[in-house]
Amino acid sequence: MIPITIDGRKLEARENQTVLQVAREHGIDIPTLCSHEALGPHGACRLCVIEAEGRPLRKGLMASCTLQVFPDLIVETKSPAVVQARKVIFELLLGRASESVALRELAEKYGVTSSRFKTESSEDCVRCGICIRVCKEQIGVAALCFAGRGQKKRVTAEFGQLSETCIGCGTCANLCPTGAIRMEDRGDERRIIVKDTVISAQPLVPCRQCGSHFQTARFIEHVRAKSDVEGATEIARDLCPTCARVVYAESVMVGP
Ligand code: SF4
Repeated sequence: MIPITIDGRKLEARENQTVLQVAREHGIDIPTLCSHEALGPHGACRLCVIEAEGRPLRKGLMASCTLQVFPDLIVETKSPAVVQARKVIFELLLGRASESVALRELAEKYGVTSSRFKTESSEDCVRCGICIRVCKEQIGVAALCFAGRGQKKRVTAEFGQLSETCIGCGTCANLCPTGAIRMEDRGDERRIIVKDTVISAQPLVPCRQCGSHFQTARFIEHVRAKSDVEGATEIARDLCPTCARVVYAESVMVGP
């Protein structure tokens, strides 16, 4: 184990852990928008800023999500320098994405209610990149990317057109910390929407038992291809989760 100190608390960290991971394990509050336990460290939003010192580091501000622990590392999460830096980062994010309720609430929790940095068109995407990373790293699809630079940087599908690779799983929408990506099921169609732009529209498969449209064919095929348990997904192929549970329970009770 690696001895480190956070806010005066002597803690034991494991090899290769980041400061953010250790802090979370011990209930020490550090805000972040771009970090998710299912994804690797990224350091995009910079909200997880902390002050760190200990050889070989020079004392300074750094992102806790990318800083790996080492023996006798000393971390401050609430020093005046951290509080000031975090305030400026919140202001920059609010200036760009003041429409995001989640961001406003998080900023408020840390005492920031307004921004000196207003941009022309405010929106709710903070460019944290979670949607892009989860689609590539966890779903294995890579349907999303960033386009443009600076203030014009935005999340889009390949070539800015309707995605041909998106499977409509909705993971990007579920993990988006600010609600900038939405998944909408309208009748027999599922749409993935970034701000006001539909980046994916796909037909939903009807359940053969109850008729409700419940999942995209591409998603079902994706899960089938990834599953290594023979027959595990057969029962759920054209049955909604509710009907699949009933059919599965009946099959177990009747037996082979
Ligand atoms: S809904 Fe499409 S874009 Fe979003 S994570 Fe799934 S495959 Fe990727």
